Amino acid sequence: MNDESVRAILAAHVRAIDGTCVGCRLWWSRLSPYPCWQVLWATSRQARAITARFLGGLR
Ligand SMILES: [Zn+2]
Repeated sequence: MNDESVRAILAAHVRAIDGTCVGCRLWWSRLSPYPCWQVLWATSRQARAITARFLGGLR
């Protein structure tokens, strides 16, 4: 998993009007409340990457 797949997940897994995840329904025909675990994973992963980049820039 890299930045590209994190972006792809965040682009596909968006909140539907009924509060479920669009990506999970499209990909797996599954109704998951948004944010689903994939979004949580991707955002935590993205936050870590941003933090790492920020700390790297300080050095
Ligand atoms: Zn999802």
